[in-house]
Amino acid sequence: MSALTRLTDRLGTLGLPALLVSDITNVQWLTGFTGSSGFVVLTPTRAVFVTDGRYDTQAHEEVKGFEMVIYKPPMTLDGCLASVFADVGIKTIGFEDLVTCSTINRLRKAHPGIEFVETADAVHPLRMVKEPWEVAKIVEACRLSEACLEHSLRLLQPGVTEREVAIDIRFYFERQGTVASFGPIVASGPNSAKPHAKVSDRVLQKGDFVTIDWGCWLDGYSSDITRTFVIGEASDRHKEVYNAVLDSLLESTQALVPGNTGKAVDSVARDLLSGRGLGHYFTHGLGHGLGRAVHDPGSLSQASTFTVAEGNVYTVEPGVYIDGFGGVRIEDDVHVTTEGPVVLTRYPRELMVVG
Ligand code: ZN
Ligand code: ZN
Repeated sequence: MSALTRLTDRLGTLGLPALLVSDITNVQWLTGFTGSSGFVVLTPTRAVFVTDGRYDTQAHEEVKGFEMVIYKPPMTLDGCLASVFADVGIKTIGFEDLVTCSTINRLRKAHPGIEFVETADAVHPLRMVKEPWEVAKIVEACRLSEACLEHSLRLLQPGVTEREVAIDIRFYFERQGTVASFGPIVASGPNSAKPHAKVSDRVLQKGDFVTIDWGCWLDGYSSDITRTFVIGEASDRHKEVYNAVLDSLLESTQALVPGNTGKAVDSVARDLLSGRGLGHYFTHGLGHGLGRAVHDPGSLSQASTFTVAEGNVYTVEPGVYIDGFGGVRIEDDVHVTTEGPVVLTRYPRELMVVG
């Protein structure tokens, strides 16, 4: 079923006569548009895509199945929306609770005859349930990312800087016609004890943990993978910490089944690490939704209010960060199915000693 059909059906559930979709990631998911500014006005019988003159050609190429309204100067967005609202006959319209206060204030002022109703979770619950073709895009992004790391692996040796590795990853993606979906993290030695370390000019050394967290876009869908290596030779402490994180990854992945709560899945990883005396070094949530955004709706954490459902794609990324020693994170991308969790990432998970 298309995203448009699913969202149109959802209007009834939400009890809304119309919905204004303005979050650009939601608009892209709904329409296939890849530009950075666009809106959808949706009713049970009409679906109108609105964008500005910069995207005239692109919108006609990319957006199918929608009425198209392109506004150009001197017409403004609000002038354009007013004519769409009048044409569609809208008196009440839901807006996504993702919009800023200033945007909704502007809309209410510009359209005094329209009642704007804040609508929580209009689109995100649908985006969380991926269609098979969407999962296939994430898989393709994973394969490309894995080929990328395979290529960059030659640089994981003493004397090379974190920045050189990060640049190599970015270049690889650009040569393949895409881009990294976030700035790759390359964190070595003591830097690996920072979950979101900034890439530095630190030179890789023997005995370092090196954590690489990277991913790319593929047709609007992202991969997000992390692997941790040891340079030179792994000590018993390296192995002990690494294998604890690996076990927590493997065990919590198995808990990613429909009906389990995001909190319960997180607890599986957390309890295992606590049992190994490492629980207090696991300083972030276990994972997040993955798809149209690197951090797609959905989370696996102690604060999560989500229940895992068929069609979800989650990252599972336990980590242990020991100040002064280093850290380990291993991250897989996992598709939730009724037959059990399907791990989409294939890059080896066992401790790899390189350099
Ligand atoms: Zn990541
Ligand atoms: Zn992640």
